[in-house]
Amino acid sequence: MAHPAPNNKRPINYLRLSVTDRCNLRCMYCMPEEGVDFVPHASILSYEEMLHLVRLSVLSGIRKVRLTGGEPLVRKGFISFLERLSRVEGLHEITLTTNGVLLKQYAEDIKKCGICRVNISLDSLKAEKFFRITGRDFFEKVREGIEKAESLGFNPIKINVVAMKGVNDDEILDFARLTFEKPYHVRFIEFMPVGERNAWTHDRFIPAEDILDEIRTLGELHPLVKNTTDGPAERYRLQGAKGEVGIIAALSNHFCHKCNRLRLTAEGHVRGCLFSDQEIDLKTPLREGKSDAYLTELLNMAIETKPEGHGLIKSAPRKCIRHMSSIGG
Ligand code: SAM
Ligand code: SF4
Repeated sequence: MAHPAPNNKRPINYLRLSVTDRCNLRCMYCMPEEGVDFVPHASILSYEEMLHLVRLSVLSGIRKVRLTGGEPLVRKGFISFLERLSRVEGLHEITLTTNGVLLKQYAEDIKKCGICRVNISLDSLKAEKFFRITGRDFFEKVREGIEKAESLGFNPIKINVVAMKGVNDDEILDFARLTFEKPYHVRFIEFMPVGERNAWTHDRFIPAEDILDEIRTLGELHPLVKNTTDGPAERYRLQGAKGEVGIIAALSNHFCHKCNRLRLTAEGHVRGCLFSDQEIDLKTPLREGKSDAYLTELLNMAIETKPEGHGLIKSAPRKCIRHMSSIGG
């Protein structure tokens, strides 16, 4: 039987699982072109180990797992892992965050595993700018991946857009307009200062309120009600739109008190907050053969000690040390 989450202030029911820290893109806000210290393969959790830890986390109250990375689709054997994960009892929902480059190739297999909710990161609707942001000429592949997911009936298709001043702020309205044509959920994410060498500067930061104000020029924005396992996005629908727009105001709006997430890094460290470098190593005790009761205690400790808030100030936020790609966003 599932135990209630020990943290009685916020139900912690959502695990973001980073299956790899490797990626086939080099987004300017996430991973520098050079000098990234990838975790050695032997130090990355095996799929077997991930399944074990997910089963234990379900006993601690986790109901939803989001697979992320790095780019989850670049890891060998990902589809058979997904297939096994989808059979974990007590898990109500599995979702995937991908950059979409390999989505066309794998969408059908993903769907066969019963996963039909997908978040695709796309920061520009123009091939040239996509290249500038990601360092790779894969815009067409991502576009085809989104089309494929749509044709297979993935629903919802969420498009994650990191909004950056002077980079893609001229496309905020184009992305919002997409929701009139398509049933997509376009979610604008505030640019976050994660990773020592990402491109974050205060000048590039656009607060959520400014993004919303701009979108309001297209029509009335109706707020939508959230589900209990929803992430921190504030959701809206533009009058007459098929899709939704959402905002993840990670910096400017302190949603920490409502944050229901736990993160498991590819090397098996559990983390309560994206912005805090405080982590608990689960891999070492797991590999030493420690009991499930012991590992569950560590998981519960991570839940109990999840920080109340990220404590960042907008004007000069501290950059946390790990790159986003190794935490999983
Ligand atoms: N590779 C996959 C992808 O890009 O969708 C999954 C991993 S990625 C780290 C997860 C999410 O984090 C993506 O939507 C990405 O846009 C977002 N992200 C990465 N770095 C960010 C930053 N500095 N600020 C805001 N969002 C960021
Ligand atoms: Fe890769 Fe995703 Fe990071 Fe871009 S945001 S570099 S796609 S992990």
